This record gives sequence, structure tokens and C-alpha cells, in this order.
Amino acid sequence: MRCCFFCGEDNEVVLEDHHIIPRSLQERLGIVDNRTITLCRNCHKKLHYVLDPLIKIICDLLEKKKIEIREEKTSERRRIIDSKRIEMRAKILDVLGNSELYCMPLEKLAEETKLSLDVLNRIVDELVELGAVSRTTSIYGNVSMVCLYITARVDDPNRIPRKILDTYLKVKEYIFFVEKFVDNVVPRDLIEKAITHVRGYRKDTIRNWLSNFIKYGLIKPTNSDYFLIV
Ligand SMILES: [Zn+2]
Ligand SMILES: [Zn+2]
Repeated sequence: MRCCFFCGEDNEVVLEDHHIIPRSLQERLGIVDNRTITLCRNCHKKLHYVLDPLIKIICDLLEKKKIEIREEKTSERRRIIDSKRIEMRAKILDVLGNSELYCMPLEKLAEETKLSLDVLNRIVDELVELGAVSRTTSIYGNVSMVCLYITARVDDPNRIPRKILDTYLKVKEYIFFVEKFVDNVVPRDLIEKAITHVRGYRKDTIRNWLSNFIKYGLIKPTNSDYFLIV
């Protein structure tokens, strides 16, 4: 015969089933447990009066724990992405730093760093923002190039003005790519010819560029006719 587990009431009309592990908790825990006890309506009400606040606390704690775990996973993922990104930046700077002109067409840079063009473009944008590299177009063939700012970091007080470094890189590009000059000691007239190609011809302008290059240590005069391209 069915009767209340607590008070023994056996009036079938008021008897109810109570889940030993409350259903709201089962849902949160992701479990199914069908064990029940029989209670009369009165005892059932009293039991819930005591149990419900406790269930709420447990559910809140479970929810908090879930959020904490989610946040931990997100920050771990972010950490991994950050360290990958730093690695990719270093790789790009490394490849550029080891290249002949500190300057490389985008496609070639992608090949050398084994990064997809998409990823490379994103990381290069970050490096541009940091003042470590610049984007330019090769004047000989309209190719997208990435150039390394060797000393021209934004936070470097002795930085080379971008215009001077840009011109220097283009002059260097002309000398090594167009003139196919392989030696680092370059005749003065070849440098002047390159400046003319890059900036147009005016005697005083050429003298100006030359003295700027020397001032920032980009070229070094070895004697009156030859320059060492750094
Ligand atoms: Zn119940
Ligand atoms: Zn009862």
C-alpha cells in the first residue's frame, strides 16, 4: 500500500511522487535518475521549502564553474594564438633581415616564410603598425614589396626618416636588380644614376640624397669615387 515516506499518510488523493535527485538538478548535471519516494502533498511542500534554496545554490555554483572553465579555455586559446603570431612576426623579420635588400616581393616572402598570402598580409599589417616594416611597390615591375625598417623603429630616437630609407631601398633595388651589380662597393656614378631613376635628376637633389644616406649610415664613402652600400 502506498503511503507518505515521512508521515505515513495513505490517502491516495494527496500522495505524490518526489524525485530523490530533483529533476532541475538532473538537467544541470546531465544525468537521468528515476528513483522516487512517495510523499503526501503536505510533506512534499515542506520538503521543497527546505530543498529548493539548496538546489538553487548548487545550480548557481555549477553555472559559475562552467563559465570559469569556458573563460580558461578562451584565454588559453588566446595565449596560443598570441604566441603563434609573435612567432610569425619574428619569422617575417628574420627572412627580411637575411635578404639582400631587406626588401622582398610579397609572394616571395610568403614562399620563404611558408605563410599563406592571407595570413602574411595580416601579420605584415601588424608589423607596419609597429613600425618594423613598410609596404612599397617595386618601381621595376609594379610588384608589391615588404621592406624591413632596419633601424627605423617608431620608438627609436635615431630612426631613419622613412622617405630617406624608402629612397635608399629603391636605390639599392635598382643597383642590385636592374644593374645586376653584385659587389657592395658601388661606384658613385652608379648610385647617382640610381637616385636619378628613383627621384629624378637634379644635381643638388642628388647631392642631398647622398649626404642623407651617409648621415644615416646607409652608405659609406670609401674614397671619392666609391661607396660601400650597407
Ligand atoms: Zn518533489
Ligand atoms: Zn506526509
